[in-house]
Amino acid sequence: MNYRKFQTRRSNIKFHYACFACRKSFKHKPVIDGETLTYNCPDCGAELCNMGPDLKAPKKHDFKQWKKVILLAKNGVCFYSYSGNPGPFPKNIGEVPRFLDERRLKLRTGGKILLDKIKNSQCRAR
Ligand SMILES: [Zn+2]
Repeated sequence: MNYRKFQTRRSNIKFHYACFACRKSFKHKPVIDGETLTYNCPDCGAELCNMGPDLKAPKKHDFKQWKKVILLAKNGVCFYSYSGNPGPFPKNIGEVPRFLDERRLKLRTGGKILLDKIKNSQCRAR
Protein backbone atom coordinates (compact mmCIF):
# COMPACT_ATOMS: atom_id res chain seq x y z
CA MET A 1 0.00 0.00 0.00
CA ASN A 2 1.46 3.36 -0.90
CA TYR A 3 1.59 6.24 1.57
CA ARG A 4 -1.22 8.26 -0.07
CA LYS A 5 -3.64 5.31 0.17
CA PHE A 6 -2.58 4.74 3.79
CA GLN A 7 -3.22 8.41 4.65
CA THR A 8 -6.62 8.31 2.92
CA ARG A 9 -7.64 5.18 4.80
CA ARG A 10 -6.33 6.60 8.06
CA SER A 11 -8.23 9.87 7.66
CA ASN A 12 -11.45 7.94 7.12
CA ILE A 13 -11.24 6.04 10.41
CA LYS A 14 -13.97 6.99 12.83
CA PHE A 15 -13.38 6.77 16.56
CA HIS A 16 -15.83 5.89 19.30
CA TYR A 17 -16.87 8.84 21.44
CA ALA A 18 -18.68 7.84 24.62
CA CYS A 19 -21.18 9.63 26.81
CA PHE A 20 -20.85 8.03 30.24
CA ALA A 21 -23.99 9.72 31.56
CA CYS A 22 -26.19 8.26 28.79
CA ARG A 23 -24.05 5.12 28.35
CA LYS A 24 -23.95 5.59 24.59
CA SER A 25 -21.22 5.65 21.99
CA PHE A 26 -21.10 7.63 18.76
CA LYS A 27 -18.66 7.35 15.86
CA HIS A 28 -16.90 10.51 14.69
CA LYS A 29 -13.72 11.50 12.91
CA PRO A 30 -11.17 12.68 15.52
CA VAL A 31 -9.37 15.08 13.17
CA ILE A 32 -10.55 17.03 10.14
CA ASP A 33 -8.08 19.19 8.18
CA GLY A 34 -5.48 18.78 10.94
CA GLU A 35 -7.80 20.09 13.65
CA THR A 36 -8.61 17.84 16.62
CA LEU A 37 -12.32 17.87 17.18
CA THR A 38 -14.50 17.51 20.24
CA TYR A 39 -18.11 16.44 20.21
CA ASN A 40 -21.06 16.74 22.52
CA CYS A 41 -23.69 14.14 23.27
CA PRO A 42 -26.77 14.73 21.11
CA ASP A 43 -28.96 13.53 24.01
CA CYS A 44 -27.62 15.31 27.11
CA GLY A 45 -25.11 17.81 25.70
CA ALA A 46 -22.15 16.56 27.78
CA GLU A 47 -18.75 16.48 26.11
CA LEU A 48 -18.04 13.06 24.65
CA CYS A 49 -14.90 11.13 25.62
CA ASN A 50 -12.72 9.90 22.74
CA MET A 51 -12.27 6.19 23.41
CA GLY A 52 -10.34 5.29 20.27
CA PRO A 53 -11.26 3.26 17.22
CA ASP A 54 -11.44 -0.18 18.84
CA LEU A 55 -13.97 0.27 21.66
CA LYS A 56 -16.74 -2.28 21.64
CA ALA A 57 -19.33 -0.21 23.43
CA PRO A 58 -21.34 -2.16 26.00
CA LYS A 59 -25.11 -2.27 25.74
CA LYS A 60 -26.84 0.63 27.48
CA HIS A 61 -28.04 -1.47 30.43
CA ASP A 62 -24.80 -3.40 30.95
CA PHE A 63 -23.81 -1.30 33.97
CA LYS A 64 -20.85 -3.49 34.95
CA GLN A 65 -19.22 -3.15 31.54
CA TRP A 66 -19.82 0.61 31.45
CA LYS A 67 -18.25 0.87 34.92
CA LYS A 68 -15.19 -0.94 33.54
CA VAL A 69 -14.99 1.38 30.49
CA ILE A 70 -15.29 4.46 32.74
CA LEU A 71 -12.53 3.16 35.04
CA LEU A 72 -10.26 2.57 32.05
CA ALA A 73 -11.02 6.04 30.66
CA LYS A 74 -10.25 7.67 34.03
CA ASN A 75 -6.86 5.94 33.89
CA GLY A 76 -6.13 7.24 30.40
CA VAL A 77 -6.77 4.03 28.52
CA CYS A 78 -8.14 4.44 25.02
CA PHE A 79 -9.07 1.53 22.84
CA TYR A 80 -6.27 1.41 20.30
CA SER A 81 -5.18 -2.08 19.35
CA TYR A 82 -1.73 -0.72 18.43
CA SER A 83 -1.05 1.49 21.48
CA GLY A 84 1.02 0.72 24.55
CA ASN A 85 -1.60 -1.56 26.00
CA PRO A 86 -0.29 -4.84 27.42
CA GLY A 87 -2.53 -7.15 25.47
CA PRO A 88 -6.22 -7.84 25.27
CA PHE A 89 -8.41 -5.41 27.13
CA PRO A 90 -9.83 -6.62 30.46
CA LYS A 91 -13.05 -8.57 30.12
CA ASN A 92 -14.45 -7.42 33.47
CA ILE A 93 -13.81 -4.78 36.12
CA GLY A 94 -11.90 -7.30 38.27
CA GLU A 95 -9.19 -7.58 35.62
CA VAL A 96 -8.70 -3.80 35.37
CA PRO A 97 -6.16 -3.27 38.20
CA ARG A 98 -3.78 -5.92 36.81
CA PHE A 99 -4.22 -4.52 33.28
CA LEU A 100 -3.36 -1.01 34.54
CA ASP A 101 -0.31 -2.27 36.46
CA GLU A 102 1.01 -4.11 33.38
CA ARG A 103 0.31 -1.05 31.24
CA ARG A 104 2.20 1.24 33.64
CA LEU A 105 5.22 -1.08 33.48
CA LYS A 106 5.06 -1.20 29.69
CA LEU A 107 4.75 2.58 29.36
CA ARG A 108 7.81 3.30 31.49
CA THR A 109 10.26 5.33 29.44
CA GLY A 110 13.96 4.66 29.12
CA GLY A 111 14.63 7.65 31.39
CA LYS A 112 12.29 6.32 34.08
CA ILE A 113 13.95 2.89 33.92
CA LEU A 114 17.40 4.51 34.27
CA LEU A 115 16.17 6.64 37.20
CA ASP A 116 14.85 3.52 38.94
CA LYS A 117 18.20 1.77 38.41
CA ILE A 118 20.04 4.74 39.95
CA LYS A 119 17.65 4.84 42.90
CA ASN A 120 18.08 1.09 43.45
CA SER A 121 21.89 1.30 43.24
CA GLN A 122 21.94 4.16 45.77
CA CYS A 123 19.83 2.10 48.15
CA ARG A 124 22.30 -0.79 47.93
CA ALA A 125 25.33 1.53 48.33
CA ARG A 126 24.15 2.80 51.70
ZN1 LIG B 1 -25.31 11.97 26.97
